[in-house]
Amino acid sequence: MSVSGVFDPKAFGRLAQRVVSLLEAHLASAQERELPVLPSCSPEALLAEWSSEFPSDGARAEEAGQGLVEDLGRLLERSIHVHHPGYIGHQISVPIPAASLVEMTNALLSNGMAVYEMGQLQTVMERRVIEFLARCVGFDEQADGVLTHGGSLGNFTALLAARQAKAGYDVWTEGQAQPMSVLVCEQAHYCIARAVQAMGWGAQGAWPVASGDDYRMDLADLPRALAAAREAGRQVVAVVGSACSTATGSFDSLEGIADFCAAEGLWFHVDGAHGASLSFSNTHRSLLKGIERADSVVWDLHKMLGLPALNSAVLFRSRRRSYEAFAQEASYLFSDEAPEDQWFNIGQRTLECTKRAMGSTAYLMFRMLGTAWFGEQVDRLIARTQELHGLLEAADDFETAHRPAANILCFRHLPSSALNAAELSAHQERLRRELLNRGRFYIVQTRLRGELWLRVTVMNPGTSSEELRALIEGLREAAQPSPRS
Ligand SMILES: *Cc1c(COP(=O)(O)O)cnc(C)c1O
Repeated sequence: MSVSGVFDPKAFGRLAQRVVSLLEAHLASAQERELPVLPSCSPEALLAEWSSEFPSDGARAEEAGQGLVEDLGRLLERSIHVHHPGYIGHQISVPIPAASLVEMTNALLSNGMAVYEMGQLQTVMERRVIEFLARCVGFDEQADGVLTHGGSLGNFTALLAARQAKAGYDVWTEGQAQPMSVLVCEQAHYCIARAVQAMGWGAQGAWPVASGDDYRMDLADLPRALAAAREAGRQVVAVVGSACSTATGSFDSLEGIADFCAAEGLWFHVDGAHGASLSFSNTHRSLLKGIERADSVVWDLHKMLGLPALNSAVLFRSRRRSYEAFAQEASYLFSDEAPEDQWFNIGQRTLECTKRAMGSTAYLMFRMLGTAWFGEQVDRLIARTQELHGLLEAADDFETAHRPAANILCFRHLPSSALNAAELSAHQERLRRELLNRGRFYIVQTRLRGELWLRVTVMNPGTSSEELRALIEGLREAAQPSPRS
């Protein structure tokens, strides 16, 4: 294909209209449940269907466009359909459709964001989003932060800052003198352990604090964990609170952790990847009490707030800390001024050099929909989850593992025949497989204290009460012995 064909604005416009029509039809059929939530296809089958043999010559512009539209149709068909009201599985957002148009614009602009010139308004929008989110969690104007590609990277960034702030020497320049640890509840997301192990702290880098029956950090175990870690020769720099945990959506007592950190001189990090969005909700905000005392907070906007993945914020209560994660000079990129005077060169404060213009997506959605919409969205998702909890509690063939604080719930089916623990776990696994095969729902599973539970995260504003009842019926049907066997 000729260069002029590839970059021709008119050809692009024609193609874009066709793609948008395709997406519109897709959105409608997903919402109307005309597709399976998760089309069943094995990795092997897909590999066989899609080869690495690319044509050396593309077709002429119009034909190539036709081919692309058809291929995008196949891509839609083969994907998990998060806009389907039966998508009640992982914590990934059901994106606000208009947000995908901002992302398309960002993609066309390809503004790199590391330095101001490569994303001027995008940089300003990011700063305004950070200011706004910082206010939401109760930080004052001393706060600062960055947007980053996902909560895992966000937690890593915050813990790098914690290391630099609490080491007692310039660990970024000199390297680490002594093995360090953070204290973290055994229920925390695995990315905390991954972050500290990536820093070379080994398996004891994430020093476990026990959880109570409610899957929250057992505060009484904190002093014991600190003493044990020190006894083992670890320099403990931080405590990580989960708000909320991934498996059960349980909120650690942030106030209790804040008190402990203040008394012990430790950095207080809140992994609010999932639950910091509750700060938009007048009803549920109190679960985050104490978050305003954190040194750093991670918040995924691509979970409950409905922005497309990935879009995450790392917030620091004190601006200076935001510059300590990567205390490294790159003078060819940035000027000689003090780093804080260079807030607009965001690449100084991120692991990424080039990064996507996430701030513009967040900014424009907050502006378009208004902040109340996001609070209502959070309330709606949690209310549906509580409703499901009630329905399951009322049924004698189901049991729940916990009361849902957020929009996450673990439960299991109890068949009429008596099963031991291992059989009961295997039963849940079979049940989930069968349910997914039927195409009407997508849910996930998790292990809690060694046993397997079904797990749902209500992310879809289209998941209605009827949907939840249908899920329970669907599980009952899936539990019936299959006529084929
Ligand atoms: C989802 C989640 C993460 C990981 O975030 P990504 O954006 O998927 O990298 C970390 N911590 C918690 C508590 C989470 O729920």
